[in-house]
Amino acid sequence: MSKNTILVTGGAGYIGSHTVQLLAAKGVKVVVLDNLVYGHSEAITDTSVELVVGSIGDTALLDGLFQKHSFDAVIHFAAYAYVGESVTDPLKYYRNNTAEPLALLEVMHKYGCKNFVFSSTCATYGVPDVIPISESQHQNPINPYGRSKLMLEWVLADCEHAWGLHSVCLRYFNASGCAADGSIGEDHRPETHLIPRVLMALNSEAGPVDVFGTDYPTPDGTCIRDYIHVEDLAEAHVLALDYLANQHTSLRVNLGTGRGISVQEIIDAVEEVTGLKVPLQYAPRRPGDPAQLVADPSLAESTLGWKAKKLDIRETVRSSWAWMTGPRKGRYNA
Ligand code: UDP
Repeated sequence: MSKNTILVTGGAGYIGSHTVQLLAAKGVKVVVLDNLVYGHSEAITDTSVELVVGSIGDTALLDGLFQKHSFDAVIHFAAYAYVGESVTDPLKYYRNNTAEPLALLEVMHKYGCKNFVFSSTCATYGVPDVIPISESQHQNPINPYGRSKLMLEWVLADCEHAWGLHSVCLRYFNASGCAADGSIGEDHRPETHLIPRVLMALNSEAGPVDVFGTDYPTPDGTCIRDYIHVEDLAEAHVLALDYLANQHTSLRVNLGTGRGISVQEIIDAVEEVTGLKVPLQYAPRRPGDPAQLVADPSLAESTLGWKAKKLDIRETVRSSWAWMTGPRKGRYNA
């Protein structure tokens, strides 16, 4: 890709920081805008990256940034992503995930920046009719988080009609794993995701991991998800920038492996990788969890030339384990 200047919102977060690291390694000039509520400044390891601490809803701040830099594109990660919290505090999600990006889009429009890569989600599909899920399936999210993301997809389509914004909406399945070199990783507080929760259970102080539901209509009764390595996701963002630069059109694509893995299979993989027995307890189903979410990733391959490379779940687990047992012990600032 050409060496442009890219604004990355939420670039200090989990998927954002892995993408920023890859862009910087490719010589791309990156400016990160992050409010550091959930992000970590230590997750930005490349000294060429400029970190601006602030909100994507702060028009004056954005105006200053767009005056200072000529951005070729924006990659927009900044969002809240706790499904349960979105149910109890929906306005927090609609404000942060749907309303605040409007200020960003207004400033982009003002400065003529027309390329946008958006972190969307498989949660926009809700409970799928068919597995694997292709992009042609109906989007019917079942929680405010999914709706907050789908609404921004609609906003982007409307901006395309109105003033020619081109957007690539990347619908992530289950982001997982950490940088192969162990330099950055996943540090959510609170941590709710399965792989880190299972690994945390190996620390005797953390208590056993809950297995949410063992009576799903799946071969072993536990939920099936499509775990996509964060470094594969990072690659897709680079290809999305190339797509916008070359194709001058918009795209909505799933990012997954196309392979389903059950909760029990994750536990088995953790035991194989670590050689340790996972303390677990069987718990009721978690409200709002569909039995299966697996991507049909073929459109991403035919359009972006992207395909998941890290398909061995044990490798993914190993990278997370390396991060959690490495120098930082899975925490940026303990
Ligand atoms: N899960 C679980 N115990 C946990 C966390 C998650 O059994 O402590 C299950 C959850 O019910 C789902 C799968 O693991 O079926 C993946 O959940 P996660 O929160 O990682 O991602 P989600 O699919 O909700 O985005």
